Amino acid sequence: MKHLCPVCGFPHLTEPPRSQSGGGSFEICPSCGFQFGVSDADRGFTHEQWRAAWKKGGCKWSSKQTPPPGWDAAAQLLSVEKARHKR
Ligand SMILES: [Zn+2]
Repeated sequence: MKHLCPVCGFPHLTEPPRSQSGGGSFEICPSCGFQFGVSDADRGFTHEQWRAAWKKGGCKWSSKQTPPPGWDAAAQLLSVEKARHKR
């Protein structure tokens, strides 16, 4: 089971991302580099702020691993932004 990054929409996280109220994993998203639970969430960055900063920086792949074939930051962002509007 793969999980969607709530920051950038990367659809291949291996664990469910930690919610901002706690629980879940401490995985670092290889796409946007957000660290769930550990430093970034606890330093007070919201998913929205991180997403905005990531977009501003040109949506760069942040991991040392190579991005999956066909990786498309813009399409990812669309999917996560659409999902948010549904709620
Ligand atoms: Zn991400």
